[in-house]
Parts: sequence; C-alpha cells; structure tokens
Amino acid sequence: MFCNAHGLKERVFCRVKKLIIIGAVAAGTSAAAKARRNNENISITVYDKDSFISYSNCGMPYYIGGEVDDIDELTPRDVNFFKKKYNVDIHINTEVIDINPSKKMLTVRNNKTKVVTTDTYDKLIIATGATAKMPLSIRDASRENVFCLRSIKNAQDIKHYIEVSRAKKAIIVGSGFIGFEMYENLVNLGLEVTMLELSDKITSILDPDMSKYLRTTLEKKGVNIKTSVQVEEISDNSLKLNTGEMLDFDLVIFAVGVTPNVELAKMAGIKLGEFGAIKVDRYMKTNIEDIYACGDCIETFSLITQKPVYRPMGTVANKTGRIAGDVVTGGSLSYHGNLGTTIFKIFNYEVACTGLTETEAIKTGIDIVCCHNIKPNKPIYMGGKEMLIKAIADKTFGKLIGVQIIGEEDVDKRIDVFATLITYGAKVEELFELDLAYSPPFSTTKGPVNYTGMILNNAMHKGRLLISADQLDLRQEDIQIIDTRSTKDFDSKGHIPGAINIPVDKLRATLSELDKNKPIAVYCNKGVTGNAAQNILLNFGFKEVFNVSGGHRFYNETR
Ligand SMILES: Cc1cc2nc3c(=O)[nH]c(=O)nc-3n(C[C@H](O)[C@H](O)[C@H](O)COP(=O)(O)OP(=O)(O)OC[C@H]3O[C@@H](n4cnc5c(N)ncnc54)[C@H](O)[C@@H]3O)c2cc1C
Repeated sequence: MFCNAHGLKERVFCRVKKLIIIGAVAAGTSAAAKARRNNENISITVYDKDSFISYSNCGMPYYIGGEVDDIDELTPRDVNFFKKKYNVDIHINTEVIDINPSKKMLTVRNNKTKVVTTDTYDKLIIATGATAKMPLSIRDASRENVFCLRSIKNAQDIKHYIEVSRAKKAIIVGSGFIGFEMYENLVNLGLEVTMLELSDKITSILDPDMSKYLRTTLEKKGVNIKTSVQVEEISDNSLKLNTGEMLDFDLVIFAVGVTPNVELAKMAGIKLGEFGAIKVDRYMKTNIEDIYACGDCIETFSLITQKPVYRPMGTVANKTGRIAGDVVTGGSLSYHGNLGTTIFKIFNYEVACTGLTETEAIKTGIDIVCCHNIKPNKPIYMGGKEMLIKAIADKTFGKLIGVQIIGEEDVDKRIDVFATLITYGAKVEELFELDLAYSPPFSTTKGPVNYTGMILNNAMHKGRLLISADQLDLRQEDIQIIDTRSTKDFDSKGHIPGAINIPVDKLRATLSELDKNKPIAVYCNKGVTGNAAQNILLNFGFKEVFNVSGGHRFYNETR
C-alpha cells in the first residue's frame, strides 16, 4: 500500500501509525498540519496544557492596546477546526508529564479532571515552547498587578486589570521588542509609562551606537527610559531600584526574555545545547530515536556562522514545525539556519535588524567594514521619511553580513531585501546592481539598499575609507577633522570637537593649509558632501582620508 505518490521512502514511513505532538501553538500546529498534508493514514494527536491553541502571541500587545478588538481574532482556530480540516485530535488542558523513550510511552494528565493516562507513539514531536522569564525575587510573589506577557490568558488579565483598576501608571521592565510594543500600546490607552532596562543600552538586537541613536530619538518624543537599573523589591504599588529610587505604579509588566520549556525533554534524556534549549539536527531530530523537537524549545544555528543560536521567534517556530512535520512523515525538508531577522515598531518608528551586529561579528573574529547611511524611503517631495541604515560587511570575502535600520517608513521592505541578500551571500558591489522598483510614491531612483552597497563598495574597494563616530573620538589627537558644511551650520548646529570648518566649495582653494601627511577625517551632515570632499582630497594626493560614517547627524545623536 502506498501512503502517497512518492515511492519507497514513504512506504517505509507507512509503518509510522501514530504521531504525537506536545504543544499546540505555532510550532506544534505547523508540524501537525504538514504531517497531515504529507500523509492521510497516520493518527495525529496533539496535547496542550493550555486551553488556547494556535494563537498569535505577536498580536497580543495590539489586543491590549485596543487595535485588535476581540481576542477571538488572535485565536481563529480551535480544536474543531483542526479535527475538521486536518483530522488532527487536539487535547487541551492536557499536560504531558513524562516521556518514556524506551517504551515510546507518554504519561498525560488532564489538568481539569486530574485524570492521569498513558499514550504511545511511533514518532514524537516536542513543541513545548518557552516561558516568560520572571526575576527570582518576584517569581513567587504573585501580585495581581505584576504581569508577564506570553499567553492569551496573560493578555486577557492585563487588559482586564487596566480596565477595572483604571490604571494610570505602568512600568515595563525590559527593552526588547515586546517591551517596546507594550510601551506604545499602554501609552495609547492613556497610561504614563516608564521603561526600565538592566543593561546600559536598550534593545539587545542593536549595536551600542544604534541603540544610543534610537534612545535619543525616542527620548526626544517623550519616551521615558531608565537604563542600568535593576528591580530589587516590589510591593503593592511601588518598586525599589538598585539605585535606591522608588517608583510608583499601578501595574508592572516584565518583558525580560524567555526560557525554553525543556524539563520534560531533559527528564527523558534528551540533550540540550549551549543555550539550554533542545539540541536538534537540521531535520529537527533530537539525540533520541523517533523524538523530534521544534519551535521556541529548540536551539537553531546562524546561517552566517553556522554556530548555535537561540531565536525564540514565530518565524523560526513555524519553519521548524513544518520541517519536523515533514521529516516524521518521510519528507526531506531541512533547516538552513537563520539571520535573527527582527522588526518592531514604537509609535512612528520602525526598528529592524538582520544578520550579525558589529559586536557579534567582532566577537566571531570576522574582519569587518561598517557604514552608516541616512536616506529617505522615497523623495522628500513625496513625503519621504529618513531611515538610518547601519550595514556590516565581511572584509575578507567582500560580503554583506548584517544590517540594522531605524526609520519611520518602509523599514520592513528594506530589511527584507537585505535579509535576502545576506541569505544568498551577496557581495557588497552587487547591492548597487540590484534592479529595484522605483517610482516617486515608492522609492528614490537609487534606493537606500543601492546606496548602502555603493558606500560599502567604495570603502572596501575604492579607498573611500570610513571612520565611525566612536573611532574618531579615540583618534582626536592624530587626525585633522574637517567640517565641510556651511559656516552657518558649523556655528549654529554644533560640530565635532577639534573640527575646522572648510565648506566643500572652498576646499580646493584651501588645500595648502592642510597637512598632506596627517590623516584627515571629513564630514558633512549625513555623509554625501563628506564623500565629495573625500574625493577631492584623494584626487589631490592626500593619502589617508576618512569620511565620518553617518556624518554629523549620527555623531551628534550618539554622543
Ligand atoms: C507578546 C509577544 C509578541 C511576539 N511577537 C513576535 C513577532 O512579532 N515576531 C516573531 O517572529 N515572534 C514573535 N513572538 C514570538 C512567537 O510568538 C513565538 O516564537 C512562538 O509563539 C513560539 O511558538 P511555539 O509553538 O514554539 O511555542 P509556544 O507559543 O510557547 O507554545 C508552546 C505550547 O506548548 C504547551 N506546552 C508546554 N509544555 C507542555 C506540556 N508538558 N504538555 C502539554 N503542553 C505543553 C504550552 O502550553 C504552549 O501552549 C512574540 C511573542 C510574544 C509573547
């Protein structure tokens, strides 16, 4: 008997009669759906200890903020949907409490009736996800106004509490994407919000200079952030920081990351990786025969370095779930690694990253070139809004390896193009060659992606060296700094310490005043005129001429 039309391999998998999946959110339901698409003949059972399944965690901040009216919009599929559409049996409120790999047996407890039963599997997929971290000192001190945001129940509890208590003041602990999304949504509800961050910089996905730029930008808009602070004590309506400062609140939301749910797997002898999540191969196989894992409970690997990473993201959960569902039914899908591509929004700012940051690249031992580029998403006459792009390239291989963007519009489009370029190993010069869509409502003739490639190519292959704001600060003594903006801008908008003002149109006439043997750094507002000045100096025989990456704008916003 054939399971489907694909031949011998599938006939072998006909011996698989029973697939069990633990966890029914992103990864578990993707696995179930794919397994059923591949094979009509196996029985598929999914256990989840929660009562909500297959929901969009990612939409929860917008439900709390009121942009999504009804929680049902985030939970469109229930047990009946999966039975009807996929012939998959999902048991909710049912926790798997033990896996016995030698007997291929599970112990299962119905958390409503408390009845404990057993079940057996031919193939098992663990998709137990992750749990929001709570600081040790607070974890057991359950307070009705201290929350985390992981499940639909958490979202309902937060929304309910805000409504009934008429909360006015909120504290968000953690400056990751969930922290920022909650910040925006609570402000939209009229709350006064303070964000606390343990580290000295916000958002771990950005390099320190981009993080500083984001902070300056957000603080100008009134976002209230305190960094290098730790919550030490928490009482009914106030908390104490390690600095001694007391802050009042009506509610606190902890958004300080997640811990993979691996206890069950660990007890069964399944190996964990260096991040404490389940170790799997490219086919989602664990070290134990016939047990697979996917989603937030597993460690994956970086597409660039091929080294292990922990990326608890919906994107990864859906892909790894699909791969697990395919492989257990005889398919050949495999995982190719990820770039950690992330995007979030706070008010009218969009923040995104893909690939390695400068910090990560240096840690990995990659010799790099970085550029900062400020460009509008479309012509200013069409209402274009600027975005700041930091791009990182591998000097040895000439390839783009990482990008971070902060901007107001169309950041998603650019980060996705960059992610695609990195995925296919694009060399920096190839970014200029891309034939991207242009018309004034959409982009500029050479778009921000093309420009980024031109800058990196010029820096790496044409001697148009770049110096970052931080590097410049370290070299103040041995470098001549020339501000090429107008004298009016130099005087009124501030300038880099030690800089002399030579507007670019006067530069050719002033060359004799400069020391040809001393390195020179030139800058303008955003980098374009700086590059023109750099070209003039190099063409006149100056040897070591840098353009300040991101110009005065970036320098100024990051000091
Ligand atoms: C507020 C928020 C916003 C987010 N925004 C984004 C975003 O914009 N982009 C993005 O890519 N990602 C985002 N994510 C992350 C994304 O939601 C997760 O990566 C994804 O949900 C992981 O899916 P999963 O199925 O692996 O795990 P989970 O969603 O954690 O599901 C695991 C399930 O397993 C069940 N389970 C665990 N142990 C057992 C057991 N022993 N027995 C039975 N059942 C068990 C749990 O009850 C749970 O239902 C966001 C997450 C949150 C919380």
